[in-house]
Amino acid sequence: MSDTQTPSGGPPDSFGLSPAQERDAKIDIENLAYRYQPRRRAEVAALEGVDLVVRRGEFISVVGPSGCGKSTLLRVIAGLQKPTTGQIRLLHEDRERPLVAPVFQEYSIFPWRTVEDNVRLGLDAAGVNRNEANSRVQKWVDRVGLAGFEKAYPGNLSGGMKQRVALARAFVVEPEILLMDEPFAALDAQLRKVLQEELLSIVREHQYTVFFVTHNLDEALLLSDRIALMSARPGRIRELIDVPFEHPRKPELRQDRQFVRMEEDLWSRLRGDVTVAAGGAQ
Ligand code: ADP
Repeated sequence: MSDTQTPSGGPPDSFGLSPAQERDAKIDIENLAYRYQPRRRAEVAALEGVDLVVRRGEFISVVGPSGCGKSTLLRVIAGLQKPTTGQIRLLHEDRERPLVAPVFQEYSIFPWRTVEDNVRLGLDAAGVNRNEANSRVQKWVDRVGLAGFEKAYPGNLSGGMKQRVALARAFVVEPEILLMDEPFAALDAQLRKVLQEELLSIVREHQYTVFFVTHNLDEALLLSDRIALMSARPGRIRELIDVPFEHPRKPELRQDRQFVRMEEDLWSRLRGDVTVAAGGAQ
């Protein structure tokens, strides 16, 4: 069964897409604006006129200067914040699976629950029966390299292992869309590479649609099918760039001449906006 819905639960609208685009669209964002209205402070226009179609099964990364609204956009897609104006439509194809699962930079796992109890949270909430939940938890604990740590508490884990718990917790519910906000930003370079590779293989295997926020151009190039470049605040999608490298992609791809050239090119496109953002007030 397939269905469309807005993150806020309202009725979907027609977006005037062609039939082919319509079939392919997993996340459909039209003319979206988001403004923060902090108390006793001036309004902050975080996003303005954002248009984006993310295709089914696509890995899209969003890059842009700090403060341009990347996290805000992800949170709006997740339904955690409501657009000020404009619309978002998500295609929910399988009612047995949750539509979205977010992973954030900070580990956001519960210190008083063991690794396996953290991983199974979403399954308990969804009422998955005990045997099924046990086997899914074990599968994903193994898959992210946490076997043997099932009964450990987060306080006894390294940052990298905590982030593996957060990843397993998102994977275990087998969402249609993974929303990832700088999930590897707090990790050292080595571990980041290991988890990038694992993420790529899991995403390919399960054909997830992934919306990935990063400020790391090399990460965006290695992981994505397309990269959305955002302008300085108020953020809008400035450009969409196809990433042409074949799968499976290995870390050695970073040495490829075309990869290096694309990274330089991305940086030169972003540089002006990054300078503006660094000089402006947040
Ligand atoms: P990015 O993820 O690209 O760094 P964010 O989406 O976090 O950007 O923030 C976009 C803009 O909105 C920034 O200028 C930020 O300071 C502002 N902002 C974020 N959260 C709030 C908030 N709760 N209240 C007011 N302004 C906010």
